[in-house]
Parts: sequence; structure tokens; C-alpha cells
Amino acid sequence: METLTPKMNFIREIIDRDLESGKFEGRVHTRFPPEPNGYLHIGHATSIILNSGLARDYKGKFNLRFDDTNPSKEEQEYVDSIVEDVKWLGGDFEDRLFFASDYFPQMYDWAMQLVKAGKAYVCDLTPEEVRAHRGTPQEPGKDSPFRNRSIEENADLFERMRKGEFPDGSRTLRAKIDMAHPNLNMRDPVMYRILHTEHHRQGNKWCIYPMYDWAHGLEDSIERITHSICTLEFEDHRPLYDWYLDQLGVYHPQQIEFARRTLGNTITSKRKLLELVKENYVEGWDDPRMPTVSGYRRRGYTASALRAFCDEIGITKVPGISDIWVLENALRNELNKTAPRVMAVLKPLKVVLTNYPEGQTEEMCAVNNPEDEAAGTRKVPFCREIYIEQDDFKEVPPKKFFRMTPGTEVRLRSAYIVKCESVVKDAAGNITEVHCTYDPATRGGDAPDGRKIKGTIHWVSARHAVPVKVRLYDALFTKRNPDDVEEGHDYKENINPASLEIIEEAFLEPSLAQAAPGARFQFERLGYFFADPKDSKPGAPVFNRTVTLKDTWAKLEQKPAGAK
Ligand code: ATP
Ligand code: MG
Repeated sequence: METLTPKMNFIREIIDRDLESGKFEGRVHTRFPPEPNGYLHIGHATSIILNSGLARDYKGKFNLRFDDTNPSKEEQEYVDSIVEDVKWLGGDFEDRLFFASDYFPQMYDWAMQLVKAGKAYVCDLTPEEVRAHRGTPQEPGKDSPFRNRSIEENADLFERMRKGEFPDGSRTLRAKIDMAHPNLNMRDPVMYRILHTEHHRQGNKWCIYPMYDWAHGLEDSIERITHSICTLEFEDHRPLYDWYLDQLGVYHPQQIEFARRTLGNTITSKRKLLELVKENYVEGWDDPRMPTVSGYRRRGYTASALRAFCDEIGITKVPGISDIWVLENALRNELNKTAPRVMAVLKPLKVVLTNYPEGQTEEMCAVNNPEDEAAGTRKVPFCREIYIEQDDFKEVPPKKFFRMTPGTEVRLRSAYIVKCESVVKDAAGNITEVHCTYDPATRGGDAPDGRKIKGTIHWVSARHAVPVKVRLYDALFTKRNPDDVEEGHDYKENINPASLEIIEEAFLEPSLAQAAPGARFQFERLGYFFADPKDSKPGAPVFNRTVTLKDTWAKLEQKPAGAK
């Protein structure tokens, strides 16, 4: 694992103070509490990395807890994917995988305790009436006509709610706090609602379900969490979090809020991500263009690069958008050191070396990674006919074009210096072949007389090339804020029509035929590529471009929405 020195942030300051004062007996215990109603996205990833990172750095503990208190949208498929993603991100919850729904009996007993203390009551108002009684920030709410039921009646009705005697929506259990409280969350909030719905884990055991605010603090308390870290929108709910725990007199964790992380050119709403999947804008939750953890994984991102990104953007109280290039740079920095370099030609142009012996093959020695001496060298076959990138040849070169062009010399990486002598064209005038001569005295690519060669290009031997499918991914949205649309329009109109380009037959150096699924390479001068673990077959890898070598964002920003 990488050895990043964690940056100081306000959460670490709070923890340091708590450790010093002996609060929580010197323990640090965090959790990640997803609702299993979708796949995890990059925002969730930052939260997992934060919470599990704090536990690791302070030698504490980290729990994975499913907040599965809402039965209608939750599915086992989501549970499984979340467990896989949290582990992949390095969130080490050991044997502490919990489900909030397993605490339902304890939560029910605690609710009954509040009923018996006169601090909760059964209310027969409909959801609409509850809302109408609530008041506004300027006006106090109105007491429910059921607020002064006797403790005995409340206890009896609450028990019968649990037994299933009443239909959905007919009654709720509410906390008896203050209908004139300046914080609307404190105006007799609902604790339980009736919902005759099967639960993905509890089956039909329950027909009353706890509300988030009631449940969450109890879950934290049961697990003896010390620092319950959540996003800013829960700041106004903290008084309620504290109220419940104080009334019960149980162990009381500290809730701390930080600003949600968002990424430019990216959507992180679960509802919208589900829509992209359901309506086939992408090929699934793990489509390499999706901002899901599984999407990044399949694109070829590493968990360590995501951690480096989180460290870079830090933790604050101020919401902000991070640019994708910050994320991409974190990945490039890592892959530059770790990904072996290979040669691949995505859009081939044939080059014939007219003075090279026909039928001859040489083994050229290529360096695997100049950033990593231990990576060593490999042999790359060379012969009379090779492929180069179409873009690397120009019959009429623009200024400062130092690649292949008639009459000038160019270096073939790790091979020879060659010179273009002529081109072959088809009837339509398209160049089909380039004819060069090579200088046999320059084996390895260096001129013994020290003459300067400005350009170096990559190549693949035509006879030995392995044809492989390569997918070039780009940002899914053209706009930095995809939700920025005029009225009556939709974020989907900002989908980048060029987010995927498929090359059915790219030519790769032969060493890549056996690339293991999940292996990462730098295709020289083209970018970092990942052998897709799902689509690669033995001897027939499929490569995803993870990221280009250089930042291309400046280019994309200029594209009008919807343009190719
Ligand atoms: P919703 O609750 O609306 O379905 P959610 O994104 O809050 O969506 P949860 O499963 O409740 O989904 O999220 C689990 C945890 O991830 C929460 O603690 C939440 O605060 C955190 N989280 C979600 N999105 C982000 C984000 N963009 N940045 C940081 N943390 C996030
Ligand atoms: Mg949530």
C-alpha cells in the first residue's frame, strides 16, 4: 500500500482533540452506511476512503453497515456489488459487515421505551396532514390532535402497529418534542411508518419501518461508533440525532458533517445513474464510462489512484466541484511508474523498408519502463514491413511536424532510423503504403555519427502484429455541470456522443497476445490501457483506454454540447 502522509483536515483535528481529552476512551471507530439501492459512485468512494482511512491511520476500526431501513428500493444485487467495491477500495471492515435491519428488534424496544416515558406518541394524521401541521421556518407548526394520548393507549397502538393491524399510511409513531421548534426537523418527527412490504433481508417480519433520523443514531450507538461522518445536508438533523440518544441515555457517538464531493463532467445521482443503465445509454453499471466504482475498476483505475485523488482534493465544509483532470493526473502519476510500456498501432499505415532483406526478422531490445529499472527489457520482432500510426505520417507536413514525412529521417523506437522515399496511393488518391529506406548502422535507434533526429515514432511488425479490439473511452458528459440545462431540457442532452470509439482491429506487438485480464500497459505515445477482465479471452485480450497520456480537457471544454 502507498505511504501517503495524510493531509490535516478539520475532521482529524476533531479526532485529535477527542483522543487528547480521552473522549471515547481513546478509540476511533468509523463506518460507511450505504443504502443498498444502487451501485456505489465516486462520491461514495471518497466517503469510504475517508472513513476507512481514518480508522487505519488512528489504528481504529471501520464498519460496513447497510442502512437497509427502507424495503421498497433495496436489492441483494446492490448489497453484493457494494461489498465488492468497498473491499476493492481498501475499506477493511474485517468481520464487521452489519445490516441495520438486524437491529429492528432493539430499535422497537427503544421506541417503546420513549413511548413509556411519554416522549413518543401514535399519531393518526395522514402524511399530508402531518406535512400541513408542520409549519414553515417562519411559522410554528400545530400540535397533532393525537399528541396527548395516554401512555397506555400509545403503547397499545404502537404494539398493534407492529403486529400489522393497521393499513399503510394510517398511523405513525412520532417523537414528542416541540411543534414550535425553530428547527423543523425537531417538530415531532416521524419515527415509524406502516409499510406492508417485504424486506430483502427480513422478509415479512416487519410492517413498520424506522425513519432515517431515528434509526441512524441508534445504529451508530449499537456499533459503538465514535465519529459518525456524514455529508452536510445532515447538519440540521444533528440536534435530532443527539436528542434521540440523549432521551434514551445510551452510548452517544459524535456526528460530523463534511461537504459532498462532486466531479466535473460527471453525474452522481443514483436515480440518474439508474436511468442511464435502464435506458441503455451505457452498457451497465460497470460500463467503463460510468462514474461508479465498478465502472472505474473496469476502465482500469486503481484503488490507490482513487485514494491519491481523495488526498489531493481533501476534506472541507465547502461544497465544490473537482475537475476530472485532477483524478486523471492521480492515475497517470501512478501508472507512469507501474505500467510497462509496449507498442501498439491503433490506426495503421503500412511502411515498407525497401532496403531491408525480405524474410529477415530481428529481435529488437525495448525498455519496459524507463521509470522503473527493475522492469527490465523485452524483445520486439522487427521486419521489412511494419505498421505506424496514420497520424504519424504527413505527405505535406505542417510546421513543427517532426514525425514521418518525405525526405526526412525519423527514429523508429528501439529499432532504426528510417527515411521516407515515396508513397503508394490508390485510385482515389489515398495513401496505402509508405516506402522508406533504413540505415543499418543505427540499430537500436541511435546514429553512430551523432546526427540529430528530431522525431521518434512507435511501430509494430506487420508479420508479427496481433490484431486486438481496443475501446477508447472519453467523458460521458460534455458539460462540466451536466445538470446545467434550460427549462424543459434534460441532463441526458449533455451526453458526449463521442464517449466511446471502438477499434475492431488495432495492431499490437506480439507480447500482448498473452496479456492477462486486468493487466495495465502504457501503449507508447497513446495512453494507458487495461485488459478488460470481462471481455478478454485467453490469447484474445480486449483493451480499454483508461486515460490518455496528456490532459485533453482543454480540448473537450471547447466542444459545444452535442458536437462530435
Ligand atoms: P440517497 O440517500 O439519496 O439514496 P446517497 O448518495 O446519500 O443517496 P447513501 O447510500 O445513503 O446514498 O450514501 C452512503 C454514504 O455515502 C452516506 O454517508 C453519504 O453521506 C455518502 N455520500 C454519498 N454521496 C457522497 C458524495 N458525493 N461525497 C461524499 N460522500 C457521499
Ligand atoms: Mg443517503
